[in-house]
Amino acid sequence: MQLARCERRPPPGEGRRRRGPPPEGGARLLVLFSRETAAGLMPAPGDGIHVYPPWQILSIEGLSCNAILNTHFSQKVFCAGKLGAASDPRGLPSAGRCGPPSLCTTFGLLEACGATAEMEAEQGAAPGSRRRGGGSGLLARRSLSLLEAIEGLGQAGSVGQDVEVVVQRVYSVPVSDGSPGSALKARLLPPRSSAAPPPAEKGKTRLCVLVQDGYGTFSVVQLHLLPRSDDLHRYCRQWQGRTCLLRGIKVVQRVTRERSTRLFSLIDSLWPPAVPLQDHGDTASMSPESRSAAVAPRFCYLLSGQESSVEPTGDRTASPLYLPPTKQTLRDAVQSPRQTRRCSFVATVLHKRKTQGRDVGQGEVWLLLTDAGLQEERRPEGPCRRTVALCVSTSCALTSSVLESLNSPAPCRMSFRDAVREHGVLLCAEQSVVEVCSVDPESEPRAEALPRPVRLDPLTAEVTPNSVCSLSGVIVGVDETTAYSWPACNRCGSDNLEMLPERRPNLRCVPCESPVDEPDTRVQLEVFLSSSLSNCTLKVKFPGYDVEKVLGKEVGPLAVYVRVVTRKPALWIGLEEICL
Ligand SMILES: [Zn+2]
Repeated sequence: MQLARCERRPPPGEGRRRRGPPPEGGARLLVLFSRETAAGLMPAPGDGIHVYPPWQILSIEGLSCNAILNTHFSQKVFCAGKLGAASDPRGLPSAGRCGPPSLCTTFGLLEACGATAEMEAEQGAAPGSRRRGGGSGLLARRSLSLLEAIEGLGQAGSVGQDVEVVVQRVYSVPVSDGSPGSALKARLLPPRSSAAPPPAEKGKTRLCVLVQDGYGTFSVVQLHLLPRSDDLHRYCRQWQGRTCLLRGIKVVQRVTRERSTRLFSLIDSLWPPAVPLQDHGDTASMSPESRSAAVAPRFCYLLSGQESSVEPTGDRTASPLYLPPTKQTLRDAVQSPRQTRRCSFVATVLHKRKTQGRDVGQGEVWLLLTDAGLQEERRPEGPCRRTVALCVSTSCALTSSVLESLNSPAPCRMSFRDAVREHGVLLCAEQSVVEVCSVDPESEPRAEALPRPVRLDPLTAEVTPNSVCSLSGVIVGVDETTAYSWPACNRCGSDNLEMLPERRPNLRCVPCESPVDEPDTRVQLEVFLSSSLSNCTLKVKFPGYDVEKVLGKEVGPLAVYVRVVTRKPALWIGLEEICL
């Protein structure tokens, strides 16, 4: 914990709005900051810090000043160092620059709520009062500040006002079927013949929007369930980037940076704001200097609503506050200097690898990606590879068209919006959106044409699991315990054969719909390979080789998927031949 000796300051403009007794400005206080909060704030003598509710006050007998605890929602509003030597910190020139009104202001207003009619009359008389963040705004039907609307009406109840916000992102999140209601339903209903629920049930997702008000505050609004997740595109088109009114929303939770790092990595990618923000202290906007100095938010609200809770205003153009996802090349996305960052790009999926025994959409899936930039003849500079692995976690909602593409063996082009780069790994998780790119030669010039075959990096000792590379070598051993064979159709090669018990031939190919007299024999076996990589055991899973004839055979270059890498006691790499 950090203990700070502080002096309480009245929020700016309080005297103007407040009807109660004058604020006890200048009172001495002790403020306790938790380690996380202190690390985020880095408080220094002379700094101004806004402590948002809820916090707690502790009076200690025999101690002249009170202590403030549970200051989890604190934000630095100015730095002592930034004020300059000439300015007097007591003048507090920028104290109100970033901060919403304090709880004191709000309480002052709530006390005044009895005189609603009087206030409304006053408001009607004052031109532009809607734009003034404080008092009159709270009683107006439309607010420009999320914090005002939320703090003014308490955390339990619903927000009675309409709040004007910009929809920065539209996405959906998977809904777990583990609710008590659905478990009960499953028990009461007769069991289905197949264990798998119908696809419509499986693909249910909840629509969410990330909104920002003109003061810079973010909120996530959880909306209705999408029965078919492909509807997401429609809501993106309708809402994303536009100024909308939020109505009939409820407060679910207040979340902090420490507890929701993924959400805040998206918020950070939208910071600093595209245009100067409003501030609660005055009608004038924040100066560019104070805007760039403003610290990214440390908390935000989770709200809930329905489809009708988001209503676009008349303006059809994108709001100047909207920061659209910037499309990058795959190389830029991988090489970006920031450690944790959201990135958006279009890439070709060369290979998909599902979690063992599960369908795409039920478990995590690894995608091997490339684009024209990574495939260029000239070696890309730096350590960048020809292909990039991306993990789609179960927390990323996939639309039915994406699932269809991922379940088909053909390569496909997809766009990835707000993917996370964490510790050098690309990840689609909460708030990420994956979409299939339309195969439209008009909109996509032939710049994206990939070489055939696709170029892969040669296998090196630094290789990581879930990547693809090319490999040549000589087969030096066969693991006969893992070898097995199966029959396949001698016409189409399909292994989808059915047994006809009392007939000759007793095999029938399902795709060809014809009997199979002399089936081909397919063999899967694992071999040990010697390659240019010395002091390393390579075990490769091959399809379609005859066990008797493989020893000493030269193979490659093959496209292989890296399944396992063990570095101790000696380098051992488990690979699998794949078709690209
Ligand atoms: Zn066949």
